[in-house]
Amino acid sequence: MAATVPAHLRMHHFDPSQTQLILNYVTERLSMDETPLDFPGDKSVIDSILSGLLTDHGLPTAQVLDLYEEHLSKTVLSADSPRFWAFIPNAPTKASLLFDMIVSAASLQGISWLEASGAVAAENQVLRWISDAAGLPASSGGVFVSGGSAANLSALIVARDVGRRRLVEKYGEQARYRRLRIAVSEQVHSSIKNTLSILDVDPLIVRPADHRLLGSDLAAVMAADADPESVVAVVATSGTTNAGIVDDLAGISDVAQQYGLWFHVDGAYGGAGLFAPSVRGLYAGIENADSFIVDPHKWLFAPFDCAALIYRDPALAKSVHTQKAGYLDALHHDDGSYEWNPTDYAYHLTRRARGLPLWFSLAVNGSGAYTAAIEHGITLTRQVADELNRRPDIELVREPTLSVVLFRRTGWTAADYDRWAHDLLTRQVAFVTSTTWEGEVVGRFAFAHPATTFEMVLEALDAMDHNGDE
Ligand SMILES: *Cc1c(COP(=O)(O)O)cnc(C)c1O
Repeated sequence: MAATVPAHLRMHHFDPSQTQLILNYVTERLSMDETPLDFPGDKSVIDSILSGLLTDHGLPTAQVLDLYEEHLSKTVLSADSPRFWAFIPNAPTKASLLFDMIVSAASLQGISWLEASGAVAAENQVLRWISDAAGLPASSGGVFVSGGSAANLSALIVARDVGRRRLVEKYGEQARYRRLRIAVSEQVHSSIKNTLSILDVDPLIVRPADHRLLGSDLAAVMAADADPESVVAVVATSGTTNAGIVDDLAGISDVAQQYGLWFHVDGAYGGAGLFAPSVRGLYAGIENADSFIVDPHKWLFAPFDCAALIYRDPALAKSVHTQKAGYLDALHHDDGSYEWNPTDYAYHLTRRARGLPLWFSLAVNGSGAYTAAIEHGITLTRQVADELNRRPDIELVREPTLSVVLFRRTGWTAADYDRWAHDLLTRQVAFVTSTTWEGEVVGRFAFAHPATTFEMVLEALDAMDHNGDE
């Protein structure tokens, strides 16, 4: 049959056996109770497997898929394994993974209302769900971007430009070249530091006494500053990636209002806690955010890659981010008819409708399932913290608030934590990585997967007794 298809159409011709092979693989993967953690790969082995693979005429699907399954897939650690507790895990729902296949199979873009109205409206429905949880006004809105880094960058571009515009209005054109600053806590995420460097904006670093940025810390720094007008924004974190600390959003927003600062809240990891009644109180003040981000690919159970970026006043973002070109004029109409172009709310143009897997999963599972799954992570963390406190050789670095817990094993050095982590991964018990806290290497667990059990964690803790100090 393939012989009857002209060469230029061969790649676009439906191949039932190829389709079946892929769907079989996907079905098998989705049906696993627990995805295997797997192991980091060896560069020379991987290179030799890939060698000669790209040919003029192509290879049979089964051969390439087998090679992927047997060799490549096993070198990709499963961030969606319930035993993945390093960094921030990923725990996509089955429905979100399945719908992601639809987004791919239909090549769904989400650039503009003209091209993708239904997809845009569905994405916006989810953004509204998040905005409502944060208590942002009905007029707020935004876009799904690839990750927290892209979301932070896009939001702070707007913050900088809005701040600069205000200075220009007040002092005239020469103010355009003034150095600007953004207030950040020492604990701020690395992506914010990179963002400031990209924006060529200087950080005004605030050092909170106990890692949690308070309104009073910001107030003191602003009051003592020689040039507070050059500070255009403040970044608060809800909560920190390293330790799950939620800054004093209410206090910070008061100071932001007093000085006319753009109030940005980075909830890439911890923003999901908005849906957990047990910790919702920690987020008081988030309703005053000018921009807010949360990564559904972290603790809102969506597949990679997906970050929600929401602005209190989306018109400001649109005025900064809209790309203008003759061939794009068709996207914009000024006749008052409804227009929402996701592309106008971040630094991108083309984008995949990456909010739809979350939208579909939320629609079929209901928000109650999200609340239950997030609360599971918080309860488990509490339970693990109590267990750590009970063990004579282990102490908590600080009480956890969300789903990250830091601990130290007395007498252990970085090499001991590494040896323990290496043993856990070798035996496929867990994937953990240590972190640094006040200059000291300590143990860290980050939980997100609702199938992670206390027993799994006990097994990892028990392994501490036969690792290290030998
Ligand atoms: C993960 C994280 C980011 C970066 O998000 P990516 O999706 O990895 O780009 C930013 N801020 C915080 C607080 C995070 O936890």
